Amino acid sequence: MIDSLVRKNILALTPYSCARDEFKGRAASVFLDANENPYNTPLNRYPDPLQEELKKKLATVKGVEPDQIFFGNGSDEAIDLVYRVFCEPRVDNVVAISPTYGMYGVCADINDVEYRAVPLNDDFTLDADRLLASVDGQTKVIWLCSPNNPTGNALARDQVERVLNEFQGIVVVDEAYSDFNDLRPFRMDLYRFPRLIVLNTFSKLWASAAIRLGMAFASPEIISLFNKVKYPYNVNLLTQEQAMKMLADLPHINLWRATLLKERTQLLPAIAELPICKAVYPTDANFFLARMTDADRIYHYLVDRGIIVRNRSRVELCGNCLRITIGTPQENNALLGALRRFGSL
Ligand SMILES: *Cc1c(COP(=O)(O)O)cnc(C)c1O
Repeated sequence: MIDSLVRKNILALTPYSCARDEFKGRAASVFLDANENPYNTPLNRYPDPLQEELKKKLATVKGVEPDQIFFGNGSDEAIDLVYRVFCEPRVDNVVAISPTYGMYGVCADINDVEYRAVPLNDDFTLDADRLLASVDGQTKVIWLCSPNNPTGNALARDQVERVLNEFQGIVVVDEAYSDFNDLRPFRMDLYRFPRLIVLNTFSKLWASAAIRLGMAFASPEIISLFNKVKYPYNVNLLTQEQAMKMLADLPHINLWRATLLKERTQLLPAIAELPICKAVYPTDANFFLARMTDADRIYHYLVDRGIIVRNRSRVELCGNCLRITIGTPQENNALLGALRRFGSL
Protein backbone atom coordinates (compact mmCIF):
# COMPACT_ATOMS: atom_id res chain seq x y z
CA MET A 1 0.00 0.00 0.00
CA ILE A 2 3.02 2.25 0.55
CA ASP A 3 4.42 0.92 -2.74
CA SER A 4 2.70 3.53 -4.92
CA LEU A 5 4.77 6.20 -3.12
CA VAL A 6 8.13 4.44 -3.61
CA ARG A 7 10.53 5.14 -6.49
CA LYS A 8 10.37 2.37 -9.09
CA ASN A 9 14.12 1.65 -9.02
CA ILE A 10 13.95 1.17 -5.23
CA LEU A 11 10.97 -1.19 -5.46
CA ALA A 12 12.90 -3.23 -8.03
CA LEU A 13 16.21 -3.11 -6.14
CA THR A 14 18.01 -6.28 -5.08
CA PRO A 15 19.82 -5.16 -1.94
CA TYR A 16 23.44 -6.04 -1.13
CA SER A 17 23.60 -9.30 0.76
CA CYS A 18 26.37 -9.37 3.33
CA ALA A 19 28.16 -12.43 4.71
CA ARG A 20 26.57 -11.98 8.13
CA ASP A 21 23.03 -12.04 6.63
CA GLU A 22 23.50 -15.57 5.37
CA PHE A 23 24.49 -17.56 8.46
CA LYS A 24 22.18 -15.56 10.75
CA GLY A 25 20.48 -17.32 13.61
CA ARG A 26 22.69 -20.43 13.78
CA ALA A 27 25.39 -20.99 16.38
CA ALA A 28 28.93 -20.85 15.00
CA SER A 29 32.42 -20.34 16.34
CA VAL A 30 34.61 -20.30 13.22
CA PHE A 31 34.01 -17.29 10.98
CA LEU A 32 35.73 -17.61 7.63
CA ASP A 33 33.00 -15.97 5.58
CA ALA A 34 33.73 -12.24 5.51
CA ASN A 35 37.46 -11.94 4.78
CA GLU A 36 38.05 -10.39 8.17
CA ASN A 37 41.35 -10.58 10.05
CA PRO A 38 40.92 -13.23 12.81
CA TYR A 39 42.97 -11.10 15.26
CA ASN A 40 42.09 -7.92 17.21
CA THR A 41 38.77 -9.13 18.69
CA PRO A 42 36.14 -7.65 18.79
CA LEU A 43 36.92 -4.82 16.39
CA ASN A 44 37.99 -7.23 13.63
CA ARG A 45 34.38 -8.30 13.00
CA TYR A 46 31.74 -6.51 10.94
CA PRO A 47 28.99 -5.20 13.22
CA ASP A 48 25.35 -6.41 13.19
CA PRO A 49 23.94 -4.73 10.04
CA LEU A 50 20.44 -4.56 11.57
CA GLN A 51 21.50 -3.72 15.16
CA GLU A 52 19.08 -6.27 16.62
CA GLU A 53 20.23 -6.20 20.25
CA LEU A 54 20.10 -2.41 20.30
CA LYS A 55 16.64 -2.36 18.69
CA LYS A 56 15.30 -4.81 21.27
CA LYS A 57 16.57 -2.60 24.09
CA LEU A 58 15.42 0.68 22.54
CA ALA A 59 11.96 -0.78 21.83
CA THR A 60 11.36 -1.23 25.57
CA VAL A 61 12.54 2.30 26.35
CA LYS A 62 10.55 4.00 23.57
CA GLY A 63 7.40 1.86 23.69
CA VAL A 64 7.57 0.67 20.07
CA GLU A 65 8.30 -2.69 18.41
CA PRO A 66 11.83 -3.57 17.17
CA ASP A 67 10.56 -3.83 13.59
CA GLN A 68 9.33 -0.22 13.79
CA ILE A 69 12.91 1.04 14.36
CA PHE A 70 15.59 2.16 11.91
CA PHE A 71 19.04 3.28 13.14
CA GLY A 72 21.19 5.59 11.07
CA ASN A 73 24.43 7.55 11.15
CA GLY A 74 22.62 10.44 12.85
CA SER A 75 19.04 11.43 12.00
CA ASP A 76 20.66 12.95 8.95
CA GLU A 77 20.94 9.49 7.38
CA ALA A 78 17.20 8.89 7.82
CA ILE A 79 16.46 12.32 6.32
CA ASP A 80 18.54 11.49 3.25
CA LEU A 81 16.93 8.04 2.95
CA VAL A 82 13.45 9.59 2.84
CA TYR A 83 14.49 11.34 -0.38
CA ARG A 84 16.31 8.35 -1.84
CA VAL A 85 13.39 5.98 -1.20
CA PHE A 86 10.39 8.18 -2.04
CA CYS A 87 11.41 11.12 -4.26
CA GLU A 88 12.14 10.90 -7.97
CA PRO A 89 14.74 13.60 -8.76
CA ARG A 90 13.44 16.49 -10.90
CA VAL A 91 9.92 15.01 -10.82
CA ASP A 92 8.65 14.84 -7.24
CA ASN A 93 8.56 17.62 -4.66
CA VAL A 94 8.39 17.93 -0.87
CA VAL A 95 6.67 20.51 1.35
CA ALA A 96 8.11 21.79 4.63
CA ILE A 97 7.42 24.40 7.28
CA SER A 98 9.69 27.46 7.40
CA PRO A 99 11.75 28.26 9.34
CA THR A 100 12.90 24.77 10.29
CA TYR A 101 15.92 22.44 10.49
CA GLY A 102 18.25 23.05 7.54
CA MET A 103 19.00 19.45 6.61
CA TYR A 104 15.60 18.81 4.99
CA GLY A 105 16.39 21.49 2.40
CA VAL A 106 20.06 20.53 1.94
CA CYS A 107 19.16 16.88 1.32
CA ALA A 108 16.47 17.99 -1.15
CA ASP A 109 19.11 19.95 -3.08
CA ILE A 110 21.58 17.05 -3.00
CA ASN A 111 18.89 14.69 -4.32
CA ASP A 112 17.69 17.26 -6.89
CA VAL A 113 14.17 17.31 -5.45
CA GLU A 114 12.06 20.50 -5.35
CA TYR A 115 11.67 21.85 -1.79
CA ARG A 116 8.60 23.98 -1.06
CA ALA A 117 9.04 26.04 2.11
CA VAL A 118 5.74 27.27 3.61
CA PRO A 119 6.03 29.94 6.33
CA LEU A 120 4.63 29.26 9.78
CA ASN A 121 2.35 31.92 11.28
CA ASP A 122 4.10 34.95 12.84
CA ASP A 123 3.89 33.30 16.27
CA PHE A 124 5.53 30.14 14.79
CA THR A 125 2.33 28.09 15.00
CA LEU A 126 1.35 25.73 12.18
CA ASP A 127 -1.57 26.43 9.85
CA ALA A 128 -2.31 23.03 8.29
CA ASP A 129 -4.51 24.53 5.57
CA ARG A 130 -1.76 26.87 4.39
CA LEU A 131 0.71 23.97 4.29
CA LEU A 132 -1.69 21.66 2.45
CA ALA A 133 -2.37 24.38 -0.13
CA SER A 134 1.20 23.88 -1.41
CA VAL A 135 0.69 20.16 -2.01
CA ASP A 136 0.15 18.92 -5.57
CA GLY A 137 0.08 15.54 -7.33
CA GLN A 138 3.88 15.26 -7.24
CA THR A 139 4.25 15.99 -3.52
CA LYS A 140 5.66 12.86 -1.87
CA VAL A 141 6.72 14.10 1.56
CA ILE A 142 5.75 16.74 4.14
CA TRP A 143 8.44 17.72 6.68
CA LEU A 144 7.32 18.75 10.16
CA CYS A 145 9.59 19.35 13.12
CA SER A 146 8.11 19.41 16.62
CA PRO A 147 9.41 20.96 18.81
CA ASN A 148 10.62 22.99 15.86
CA ASN A 149 14.21 24.08 15.37
CA PRO A 150 15.01 27.04 15.57
CA THR A 151 11.73 28.32 17.06
CA GLY A 152 11.55 25.89 20.04
CA ASN A 153 7.76 25.41 20.07
CA ALA A 154 5.92 22.14 19.60
CA LEU A 155 3.40 22.19 16.75
CA ALA A 156 -0.24 21.87 17.81
CA ARG A 157 -1.30 18.22 17.67
CA ASP A 158 -4.64 18.95 15.98
CA GLN A 159 -2.86 20.72 13.09
CA VAL A 160 -0.32 17.90 12.69
CA GLU A 161 -3.12 15.32 12.72
CA ARG A 162 -4.94 17.28 10.01
CA VAL A 163 -1.83 17.01 7.85
CA LEU A 164 -1.57 13.29 8.62
CA ASN A 165 -5.23 12.67 7.80
CA GLU A 166 -5.51 14.79 4.66
CA PHE A 167 -2.16 14.32 2.92
CA GLN A 168 -1.83 11.01 1.07
CA GLY A 169 2.00 10.91 1.03
CA ILE A 170 4.72 10.46 3.66
CA VAL A 171 4.64 12.78 6.69
CA VAL A 172 7.85 13.08 8.70
CA VAL A 173 7.61 14.45 12.24
CA ASP A 174 11.11 15.18 13.53
CA GLU A 175 10.92 14.83 17.32
CA ALA A 176 14.62 15.35 18.07
CA TYR A 177 13.55 17.45 21.08
CA SER A 178 10.42 15.62 22.24
CA ASP A 179 12.25 14.39 25.38
CA PHE A 180 12.15 17.95 26.75
CA ASN A 181 8.36 18.17 27.15
CA ASP A 182 5.47 16.06 28.41
CA LEU A 183 3.42 16.03 25.21
CA ARG A 184 2.40 12.71 23.71
CA PRO A 185 5.13 11.71 21.24
CA PHE A 186 3.95 10.87 17.72
CA ARG A 187 5.79 7.53 17.72
CA MET A 188 2.98 6.26 19.98
CA ASP A 189 0.53 6.75 17.09
CA LEU A 190 2.28 4.82 14.31
CA TYR A 191 -0.61 2.33 14.19
CA ARG A 192 -3.09 5.11 13.43
CA PHE A 193 -0.90 6.72 10.76
CA PRO A 194 0.72 4.16 8.41
CA ARG A 195 2.50 6.85 6.34
CA LEU A 196 4.07 8.57 9.38
CA ILE A 197 7.83 8.59 9.99
CA VAL A 198 9.03 9.90 13.38
CA LEU A 199 12.67 10.93 13.88
CA ASN A 200 14.54 10.78 17.20
CA THR A 201 18.24 11.14 17.97
CA PHE A 202 20.90 10.29 20.54
CA SER A 203 22.40 13.76 19.94
CA LYS A 204 20.23 15.84 22.29
CA LEU A 205 18.83 14.59 25.64
CA TRP A 206 20.81 11.36 25.24
CA ALA A 207 24.00 13.41 25.30
CA SER A 208 25.73 11.39 22.57
CA ALA A 209 26.08 13.61 19.51
CA ALA A 210 29.62 12.27 19.01
CA ILE A 211 28.56 8.66 18.37
CA ARG A 212 26.25 9.70 15.46
CA LEU A 213 23.13 7.67 16.15
CA GLY A 214 19.71 8.70 14.89
CA MET A 215 16.45 6.78 14.79
CA ALA A 216 13.41 6.62 12.59
CA PHE A 217 10.19 5.02 13.84
CA ALA A 218 7.71 3.91 11.20
CA SER A 219 5.67 0.96 9.93
CA PRO A 220 7.67 -2.27 9.34
CA GLU A 221 7.03 -1.70 5.60
CA ILE A 222 8.80 1.67 5.61
CA ILE A 223 11.58 0.37 7.87
CA SER A 224 12.22 -2.48 5.38
CA LEU A 225 12.59 0.05 2.57
CA PHE A 226 15.16 2.00 4.59
CA ASN A 227 17.05 -1.23 5.37
CA LYS A 228 17.11 -2.10 1.69
CA VAL A 229 18.71 1.21 0.68
CA LYS A 230 21.05 2.01 3.61
CA TYR A 231 24.77 1.17 3.66
CA PRO A 232 25.00 -2.43 4.94
CA TYR A 233 27.02 -1.60 8.10
CA ASN A 234 25.78 1.95 8.62
CA VAL A 235 26.08 1.92 12.44
CA ASN A 236 29.50 0.86 13.72
CA LEU A 237 30.16 -1.45 16.67
CA LEU A 238 31.52 1.26 19.01
CA THR A 239 28.36 3.30 18.48
CA GLN A 240 26.08 0.30 19.09
CA GLU A 241 27.94 -0.58 22.31
CA GLN A 242 27.97 2.98 23.61
CA ALA A 243 24.24 3.35 22.89
CA MET A 244 23.56 0.16 24.91
CA LYS A 245 25.44 1.74 27.82
CA MET A 246 23.40 4.95 27.62
CA LEU A 247 20.15 2.97 27.49
CA ALA A 248 21.20 1.09 30.62
CA ASP A 249 21.56 4.34 32.56
CA LEU A 250 18.08 5.89 32.49
CA PRO A 251 18.34 7.45 35.98
CA HIS A 252 21.26 9.54 34.76
CA ILE A 253 19.37 10.68 31.67
CA ASN A 254 16.38 11.63 33.82
CA LEU A 255 18.60 13.62 36.15
CA TRP A 256 20.04 15.56 33.21
CA ARG A 257 16.54 16.24 31.94
CA ALA A 258 15.38 17.55 35.32
CA THR A 259 18.45 19.79 35.62
CA LEU A 260 18.06 21.21 32.11
CA LEU A 261 14.33 21.85 32.53
CA LYS A 262 14.94 23.65 35.83
CA GLU A 263 17.64 25.78 34.21
CA ARG A 264 15.28 26.53 31.31
CA THR A 265 12.62 27.72 33.76
CA GLN A 266 15.10 30.11 35.36
CA LEU A 267 17.00 31.33 32.30
CA LEU A 268 14.05 32.30 30.10
CA PRO A 269 12.58 35.02 32.34
CA ALA A 270 16.06 36.30 33.21
CA ILE A 271 16.85 36.82 29.51
CA ALA A 272 13.38 38.23 28.84
CA GLU A 273 13.83 41.06 31.33
CA LEU A 274 17.13 42.29 29.85
CA PRO A 275 16.76 45.72 28.19
CA ILE A 276 18.46 44.29 25.04
CA CYS A 277 15.83 41.53 24.73
CA LYS A 278 12.53 42.28 23.00
CA ALA A 279 10.95 38.84 23.33
CA VAL A 280 11.67 35.31 24.44
CA TYR A 281 9.52 32.74 22.65
CA PRO A 282 7.89 29.83 24.49
CA THR A 283 9.88 26.63 24.18
CA ASP A 284 9.27 22.88 24.47
CA ALA A 285 12.94 22.04 23.80
CA ASN A 286 16.39 22.45 25.38
CA PHE A 287 16.89 25.78 23.60
CA PHE A 288 14.92 28.93 23.00
CA LEU A 289 14.69 31.75 20.53
CA ALA A 290 15.19 35.31 21.79
CA ARG A 291 14.47 38.44 19.74
CA MET A 292 17.08 41.06 20.58
CA THR A 293 17.55 44.75 19.85
CA ASP A 294 20.63 44.04 17.71
CA ALA A 295 21.35 40.33 17.28
CA ASP A 296 24.49 40.73 15.13
CA ARG A 297 26.26 43.03 17.60
CA ILE A 298 25.25 40.94 20.61
CA TYR A 299 26.32 37.75 18.83
CA HIS A 300 29.83 39.12 18.11
CA TYR A 301 30.10 40.59 21.61
CA LEU A 302 29.42 37.10 23.03
CA VAL A 303 31.87 35.43 20.62
CA ASP A 304 34.58 37.85 21.82
CA ARG A 305 33.93 36.57 25.35
CA GLY A 306 34.12 32.92 24.30
CA ILE A 307 30.35 32.35 24.43
CA ILE A 308 28.82 30.93 21.26
CA VAL A 309 25.10 31.06 20.56
CA ARG A 310 23.39 30.63 17.17
CA ASN A 311 22.67 33.78 15.21
CA ARG A 312 19.39 33.09 13.40
CA SER A 313 18.71 36.71 12.45
CA ARG A 314 18.81 36.02 8.71
CA VAL A 315 16.29 33.17 8.92
CA GLU A 316 12.66 33.65 7.78
CA LEU A 317 10.47 35.22 10.55
CA CYS A 318 13.54 35.33 12.85
CA GLY A 319 14.93 38.85 12.30
CA ASN A 320 17.22 39.83 15.22
CA CYS A 321 16.82 36.42 16.82
CA LEU A 322 19.44 34.39 18.66
CA ARG A 323 18.94 30.70 19.36
CA ILE A 324 20.30 29.82 22.77
CA THR A 325 20.91 26.28 24.09
CA ILE A 326 20.37 25.54 27.79
CA GLY A 327 23.78 24.67 29.27
CA THR A 328 25.03 23.86 32.74
CA PRO A 329 24.12 26.30 35.55
CA GLN A 330 27.65 27.75 35.28
CA GLU A 331 27.39 28.22 31.51
CA ASN A 332 23.96 29.82 31.76
CA ASN A 333 25.24 32.22 34.44
CA ALA A 334 28.21 33.14 32.26
CA LEU A 335 25.82 33.95 29.41
CA LEU A 336 23.50 35.96 31.63
CA GLY A 337 26.37 37.87 33.24
CA ALA A 338 27.83 38.78 29.85
CA LEU A 339 24.45 39.91 28.49
CA ARG A 340 23.82 42.05 31.60
CA ARG A 341 27.14 43.81 31.04
CA PHE A 342 26.43 44.41 27.34
CA GLY A 343 24.28 47.48 28.01
CA SER A 344 27.00 49.17 30.04
CA LEU A 345 29.60 49.19 27.23
C1 LIG B 1 19.86 18.28 16.27
C2 LIG B 1 18.75 17.87 15.39
C3 LIG B 1 18.74 16.60 14.84
C4 LIG B 1 19.82 15.61 15.15
O1 LIG B 1 20.52 15.21 14.07
P1 LIG B 1 21.60 14.02 14.25
O2 LIG B 1 22.04 13.81 12.85
O3 LIG B 1 20.86 12.86 14.83
O4 LIG B 1 22.65 14.53 15.17
C5 LIG B 1 17.67 16.22 14.05
N1 LIG B 1 16.65 17.07 13.81
C6 LIG B 1 16.64 18.30 14.35
C7 LIG B 1 15.49 19.18 14.10
C8 LIG B 1 17.69 18.74 15.13
O5 LIG B 1 17.67 19.98 15.63
